[in-house]
Amino acid sequence: MPENTRREETKPAPCTRYETGFFFPAADSRHIEWPNADEQAALDVCATCPLVARRNCLEGELSYAVDKQFGVVGGATAAQRKAIIRGRKAAQLAGVAA
Ligand code: SF4
Repeated sequence: MPENTRREETKPAPCTRYETGFFFPAADSRHIEWPNADEQAALDVCATCPLVARRNCLEGELSYAVDKQFGVVGGATAAQRKAIIRGRKAAQLAGVAA
């Protein structure tokens, strides 16, 4: 692992500088492609998270059921994570590796 990547991985996640509510706006957008303004603000913070940490964060959240998805986590909105979960389930049922 390159030295600069290792250094990035030891930094606290960018979201730790914000109140938890920042990542859980009052309303989740239902649109996969059009996050609302609050979601976009949180997505912008996640975009500064190191890639490996963001991927791990997302995968951890995807282990929860569709009806447990709220807010912005792992660089994805609840609607985006629901779509990923449903896509993986559909692929699993079809016998396709996702
Ligand atoms: S990807 Fe996860 S750990 Fe990184 S800033 Fe977003 S919520 Fe925090």
